[in-house]
Amino acid sequence: MRILILGAGVIGLSSAYYLSRAGHDVTVADRHPEVASETSSGNGGQLSYSYVAPLADPGVVSKLPRWLTCSDSPVRFRPKLSAAQWRWCFQFLSACTREQSGLTTRKLLSLSFLSRTLLHELIASEPSLDFDFTRSGKLVLHRDADAMRSAVRQLEFQRMLGCEQQALSADACVELEPTLAHLRPSLAGGIHTPSEDTADCRRFCQSLEALLRARGVRFLMNTSIDCLRPESSGHVEAWSGGAPLASDHVVVASGAAATGLLKAVGIRVPVYPLKGYSLTFDLQPGADAPRISVTDFTRKVVYARLGKRLRVAGIADLDGYSLEPDPKRVAVLRAEAVAIYPDIVRYSPCSEWIGLRPATPRGTPIIGPTRYRNLWLNVGHGALGFTLAAGSAALLAQWLAGSDGRELRSTFALMS
Ligand SMILES: Cc1cc2nc3c(=O)[nH]c(=O)nc-3n(C[C@H](O)[C@H](O)[C@H](O)COP(=O)(O)OP(=O)(O)OC[C@H]3O[C@@H](n4cnc5c(N)ncnc54)[C@H](O)[C@@H]3O)c2cc1C
Repeated sequence: MRILILGAGVIGLSSAYYLSRAGHDVTVADRHPEVASETSSGNGGQLSYSYVAPLADPGVVSKLPRWLTCSDSPVRFRPKLSAAQWRWCFQFLSACTREQSGLTTRKLLSLSFLSRTLLHELIASEPSLDFDFTRSGKLVLHRDADAMRSAVRQLEFQRMLGCEQQALSADACVELEPTLAHLRPSLAGGIHTPSEDTADCRRFCQSLEALLRARGVRFLMNTSIDCLRPESSGHVEAWSGGAPLASDHVVVASGAAATGLLKAVGIRVPVYPLKGYSLTFDLQPGADAPRISVTDFTRKVVYARLGKRLRVAGIADLDGYSLEPDPKRVAVLRAEAVAIYPDIVRYSPCSEWIGLRPATPRGTPIIGPTRYRNLWLNVGHGALGFTLAAGSAALLAQWLAGSDGRELRSTFALMS
């Protein structure tokens, strides 16, 4: 079958890989000249299979006043005259229950474990892929005793679901990652997950593109999809430059922009952008950068070594689709990085990046069919798109191949 994938981010390209491997004739279309030009470009680089608990959590409600009023909080909400934003917020708050958060964690862990297995298989079977992949492990730092106790409760819950994690004292954190020694007095402890990985998402996408081109997948770059149009046959067509693009099936993998494309054919997906930033430092010889991937839980900032660079990522702003960076928010992220790695920030050349996490209120992506016979979705991966890409793409390919998909339908499909 001829399959047209809309979007050359990590989700679209991973979908292309599994669909072409299943024998389909695949074309990927994107409005940019290069793959991974939007959210899959400068993300945190975490393949964070065991850290999938959603933002929508009962603990969030008490933090809302701070998020609304403080300019340096890690999460910020700027109310807009937008029905989509308010609907998303309402659905988000409704999902902030212990039951829903536990259910989402279970669903995401099953998808992230599948993704880990598939990504490791992919790396083993495709030696041309080169993307600074490291089995780094991850250390999540906690600054206060209450947060550490709650992290230990979460660890015990996740242990029953197959996660292998250990609670560490502050001294053990420093022993594991000596570059954190100066933080010792402020640490309550940490959670170590040896099975987490880190990698460069943009390099992954570029490597995958080269592999896909060599296998006959076509790329229509600089191709903006103007709209989707329903046909009387119950199918849809994707239009670009005033003409339909030939295909039997269309997969929407257009990240935060999916909402606009789908609205035109009467499909409402609860995806709204959660804006984030990253800083990438070119490490100078002898720089004291972490070996392990580090997360500062309270400040929600991640630190990952990607080859000879240190990627620092964080901030979640619910304030629309603009990609204009807010210098105050960049300064917040920089101040976080200075507090942990002052010499690296001071002496290394740095590039700044902004991206839109395609977030759903509950934190689960939307994968599967729609009411149109040939229209499929792989969207809404929020803060975990790199982590969940392989599993999401493989599930979509399996469903498109006609497997029964009952389990999927109840888990990730768009309920309509
Ligand atoms: C600050 C930050 C840190 C993050 N850190 C991590 C992390 O550590 N680990 C992790 O797993 N995830 C992380 N994420 C999330 C992850 O980056 C995203 O979930 C993922 O990149 C989404 O991929 P995507 O392919 O759905 O979207 P995108 O990468 O945005 O790709 C969508 C593509 O669709 C194209 N497109 C859209 N509309 C059209 C149109 N009309 N016509 C043609 N083309 C179109 C766009 O050009 C784009 O290339 C982070 C995100 C941010 C912002």
